Amino acid sequence: MLVSSISLLGVPHDAHSTFLRGTAQAPPLIRKAFWNPSTNTCSELGVELGTAGLIDDLGDMAFSPDEDAWPAITGRVNQALATGQPLICLGGDHAITHPIVEGLASRYDRLSILHFDAHPDLYDEMEGDRRSHACPFARIMEAQLAQRLVQVGIRGMNTHQREQAQKHNVEVHDMKDWERPFTLKFDSPLYISFDMDALDPAFAPGVSHHEPGGLSTREAIAMIHRIEAPAIVGADIVEYNPTRDLNGVTAMAAGKLFKEIAGKMLQS
Ligand code: MN
Ligand code: MN
Repeated sequence: MLVSSISLLGVPHDAHSTFLRGTAQAPPLIRKAFWNPSTNTCSELGVELGTAGLIDDLGDMAFSPDEDAWPAITGRVNQALATGQPLICLGGDHAITHPIVEGLASRYDRLSILHFDAHPDLYDEMEGDRRSHACPFARIMEAQLAQRLVQVGIRGMNTHQREQAQKHNVEVHDMKDWERPFTLKFDSPLYISFDMDALDPAFAPGVSHHEPGGLSTREAIAMIHRIEAPAIVGADIVEYNPTRDLNGVTAMAAGKLFKEIAGKMLQS
């Protein structure tokens, strides 16, 4: 696949968060951090993302209260993918990954997912909500939207989700076993889902769920740089909650991750 540009779409939706709202405010702030003049737009892998035409910014979706957001998200994603270029979505809470991946799965029948998160997000339901941001990967695996799911950064596992992980053959890399960044190899098109709480709260305080003992920003970037996959066809950066941020440090971390994921997409 010849990749010459990347589509960028904001999905400001946080209605399925369990603990705090606020992530719907994130997309414009992540964009602003990426374009922040205090830094440049060159990825560490050498891709000049500021080059005109490289990023096709589709803006932010708007949701009306009387419409079902899920088919709207899948529809917008399908539209964006029709260009053949990879898509990066900015959330929003993690619930949006399900309708986004539904769009990807209709285009790529063998899809792998690399999921960075403190939490496995494999609950069958949470507080009666099967669309909860605690559930997207249960929905994705049940519907067989991905043939392989690899999770990194996990430190919020429990018995129920461990059973779910086993049921769906999820490859879980728990933080308790973390030593250093390593190479993950995929043999099919790859989707990256990055929950900002995969990072330690010391590096990214602007998240709804502070879960100590996480990845450093450098470790996460190293994992992204080392990915071996035929193509990275989509990604999301979710769960940045500006209402909890300190001096915009988490926005800058999200902007940096956008830069490194986009750079990796264009390079691979
Ligand atoms: Mn999550
Ligand atoms: Mn999480």
